[in-house]
Amino acid sequence: MTVMPADELTCQEVVELVTSYLEERLASEDRRRFDEHLAICEFCTEYLRQMRLTIGALGALPEEPISSDALAELQKAFRSFKR
Ligand SMILES: [Zn+2]
Repeated sequence: MTVMPADELTCQEVVELVTSYLEERLASEDRRRFDEHLAICEFCTEYLRQMRLTIGALGALPEEPISSDALAELQKAFRSFKR
């Protein structure tokens, strides 16, 4: 249904950019792509929500970017949770 633009971000890229996004350090073009991905990806929407909660709890952004292995685990957990 959704037409994928050629410059579509992957979930991994979104996760890596989330800190910059929340700190509003993204270039407007990256921010637009980020928002486009969020619009079609429930996982990243949820990830962003969790990230905001974490920041609310810690009062700061976590230092460590998520690894691709950890991301794959999260996505798997997310999908089985949805079922
Ligand atoms: Zn995603």
